[in-house]
Amino acid sequence: MRMVDIILKKRAGHELTKDEIEFFIKGYVDEEIPDYQVSSLLMAICCKGLNSSETAWLTMAMVFSGDTVDLSEIPGIKTDKHSTGGVGDTTTLIVVPIVAACGVPVAKMSGRGLGHTGGTIDKLESIPGFNAFQSRADFIRIVKDNGLCVVGQTGNLVPADKKLYALRDVTGTVESIPLIASSVMSKKIAAGADAIVLDVKAGDGAFMKTVNDAFLLAKEMVEIGSKVNRKTIALVTDMNQPLGCAIGNALEVKEAIGVLNCEVKGEIREVSLLLASYMLFAAGKCSSIEQANDLAVAALEKGKAAEKLKAMIYAQGGNGDVVDNPEILSIASDVIDIKAQKNGYITSILAQKMGEAAMKLGAGRVKKDDQIDHSVGITIRKKAGEAVRTGDVLARMYVKHEKGLEESKKLLQHAFIISDERVEAVPVVYGVVQ
Ligand code: URA
Ligand code: CA
Repeated sequence: MRMVDIILKKRAGHELTKDEIEFFIKGYVDEEIPDYQVSSLLMAICCKGLNSSETAWLTMAMVFSGDTVDLSEIPGIKTDKHSTGGVGDTTTLIVVPIVAACGVPVAKMSGRGLGHTGGTIDKLESIPGFNAFQSRADFIRIVKDNGLCVVGQTGNLVPADKKLYALRDVTGTVESIPLIASSVMSKKIAAGADAIVLDVKAGDGAFMKTVNDAFLLAKEMVEIGSKVNRKTIALVTDMNQPLGCAIGNALEVKEAIGVLNCEVKGEIREVSLLLASYMLFAAGKCSSIEQANDLAVAALEKGKAAEKLKAMIYAQGGNGDVVDNPEILSIASDVIDIKAQKNGYITSILAQKMGEAAMKLGAGRVKKDDQIDHSVGITIRKKAGEAVRTGDVLARMYVKHEKGLEESKKLLQHAFIISDERVEAVPVVYGVVQ
């Protein structure tokens, strides 16, 4: 088999075979096929697409390019969730404890943040003592004992995706629905998931800028799931503003705890309950989504989910008292308020700019190895649909030093889009694909 023939075939718009796809992935990971040929094929895929069979073959070829996590020691259907890159999106810290409190174990691997999006592992590391890196045996034991564990990724999971993603980033081939779908699904499958619930974001600050594209991506991923026997359900949710009101690591943990203690309501609670309900449904715990929702709400309102988070934090070496006393979290004490410069109505809050503003304060990384400051960030005081008057506080910055401060302020000021006319609040959930 020759790589050039595979490139020519896709360029002509023909379907590739499973063997051809496996050949290209294996050859690339083994460094037998050079970057220039792979980038050429990626561009042909961007232009001509992949059908759902090719996308499923690509996904599984990527899964088998490295290690896979075996969760078979944990009883039941292992369900994972994934968000396609939110800002102020702390749902994992809420959803995992709710699901565990309903009796469905969750063994989850999460990532660190990069660029304008945050990562669950960074957020958890703002809890004193928390250890996100557990041995495989401890990971399984903690799930068996407590029903949940969230760890950072270890092992050589989906090396094909790491190489392909880096190449796509510099060859103009990121925006391809089959390439994004296979990239996301391969990582979830390699991490041991039997069932997958996806939160596909639509809007500024998300990969998919339009609701229509978000549905196309959602359908593609659900289709992959059905072809490779992993029950997959995708929600399409709004990212025309950050989901919650906190951006920054300790601030987001505090917000998640607030939701678990039933003190914080709003979109973040709504989306978290929906994701948890679909996870319970996907795991076979409930026969209807209504029943799953009742269970999830009860776990939240009876405080059982909060207890689960506490148990998990203790099991991973952290100070679980933080669930009762969020003051234990270190949050920067210097605050600066960003105020409205005109009267009007907030139409949207540009999530990408908000994420970048938090990053400039030190909450996020520009490069993979950058150090972050868990204590800094931003809280949003007015959300889309609300009326504002000149001088109203739109957002509050929690800062540590001057570096990046002016740029951050400017980003924040530009992130709030204020119109003269009254606007309807944007929907939080656009639909479900299953
Ligand atoms: N997120 C991923 O994990 N992969 C992509 O290709 C795009 C977004
Ligand atoms: Ca996230």
